[in-house]
Amino acid sequence: MNHIHHWVGGSELAGTSGRGSPVYNPATGKQTAIVDLASEAEVDAAVEVASAAARQWRTTSLAKRMQILFAFRELLDRNRHEIAWLITSEHGKVASDALGEVARGIENVEFACGVPHLLKGEYTEQVSTGVDVFSIRQPLGVVAGITPFNFPAMVPMWMFANAIACGNCFILKPSERDPSPSLRFAELWRDAGLPPGVFSVIQGDRTAVSRLLDHPDIAAISFVGSTPVARQIYEAATRNGKRVQALGGAKNHMVVLPDADIDAAADAAVSAGYGSAGERCMAISVLVAVGGVGDSIVEAIRQRVARVKVGPGDRADSAMGPLVTREHRDRVASYLEDDALGGAAVVVDGRRGVPEGNGFFLNPSLLDDVRPGTKVYDDEIFGPVLSVVRVDTYDEAVALINRNQFGNGAAIFTRDGGAARQFQFDVEVGMVGVNMPIPVPVASYSFGGWKSSLFGDTHMYGPDGIRFYTKMKVVTSHWPDPGLSTIDLGFPRNR
Ligand code: NAD
Repeated sequence: MNHIHHWVGGSELAGTSGRGSPVYNPATGKQTAIVDLASEAEVDAAVEVASAAARQWRTTSLAKRMQILFAFRELLDRNRHEIAWLITSEHGKVASDALGEVARGIENVEFACGVPHLLKGEYTEQVSTGVDVFSIRQPLGVVAGITPFNFPAMVPMWMFANAIACGNCFILKPSERDPSPSLRFAELWRDAGLPPGVFSVIQGDRTAVSRLLDHPDIAAISFVGSTPVARQIYEAATRNGKRVQALGGAKNHMVVLPDADIDAAADAAVSAGYGSAGERCMAISVLVAVGGVGDSIVEAIRQRVARVKVGPGDRADSAMGPLVTREHRDRVASYLEDDALGGAAVVVDGRRGVPEGNGFFLNPSLLDDVRPGTKVYDDEIFGPVLSVVRVDTYDEAVALINRNQFGNGAAIFTRDGGAARQFQFDVEVGMVGVNMPIPVPVASYSFGGWKSSLFGDTHMYGPDGIRFYTKMKVVTSHWPDPGLSTIDLGFPRNR
């Protein structure tokens, strides 16, 4: 059996805890590897190596850091198919989707290549007579990232590109479900010339995470995962005095106004509802049909769902792959039981006609007349289940979204520019799409939700990423003529 190890001090390191977790190929249901699960002592050892490297890395010039980032970017580009294949074989998403994930991740590395510009401070001459002021951004030291299973390549890149560019050492704790891309990143960083210890991978579960949250030499925690864990991480790490950004779950709504192009809206709903088997934090899980649009949009989606080809991610004709684990597939399927539906109509039942074999497959499901207060509406399902809620007016649609505990993304489909503009003003979410179902911001903006989709003050990557991974320092300097020096015990006044 293949063993997946840690990466510490510039090379792979076999675990010594005696604990491991199985890794599966979701398309076959077969176990393919065992990933090490770190002990607290193994986390401590990795932090020690990273702390030693941090002293050197922060003194490395921005020119040199930028060269390493460009080299890393080139290596990622050359190896993008292999990384995508690693994603498909452990996560299950189809190859084209995995390649899209890698591409969006690389954009974060490209953004970080501009670090000499991104770290520019401000300078003001003569703020007082003979006195100048300037601001500088300095790294935090050793920072850690804890990432979810659903984007095993892109989400780590959201974090480590900027963290390392800013002069920090980064310890990645990937999901134990699909840990292999993290080690490939480590090899590529090494090949790009990154000094040992600047990027480390600790494989593990909650034991490793809780040690990272407690460790006095970890300055900041970036987390992406489910809301209950995000909340716990935020509370524990801030109690320990760390800087934290903890992104949680989602329930993204797509509003379809009566004037929308129904075919375009149905295409978007199917793409964003069932892409990656609904295992995206920006997936559309609720379609809000406004006015009389319900019957036509439900019928248009139903026809398209019948054409979605479900199969192994490495087959060119598969549009949707399996779910990540058997347990998760069964949990998602349980939302099609009566007690979860709470009276909703099952238009398409994804439990029917799944591909044969032991893969963790579930076909797309479409539900109509879903109501708030039912499990299927209230919970984050994180699978290929699209719910349609029917409302009479735009105001009801916005009120529905704003009452939801999550606030990651929301989209509106309309041909009315005024309605779209009003929606972007009214809706209480962090990311809004206008005729775009998955509005993940480009790398030069920042990603983050509101309400229980994000705990912390900064969003992830882009300008907020630079702010998160640096501390601001302001220097006030004066070069007086020593001959004019006097003693003055008063509070310094500007002249
Ligand atoms: P998860 O919360 O189960 O796990 C995320 C990470 O936390 C993993 O590395 C895991 O090992 C660790 N972890 C799990 N339980 C823990 C615990 N009790 N204590 C400490 N660490 C723990 O999430 P997941 O199932 O891997 O990913 C899916 C979730 O992530 C969904 O809720 C999805 O919406 C969310 N997500 C959010 C975003 C976003 O940007 N807001 C992006 C991607 C995924």
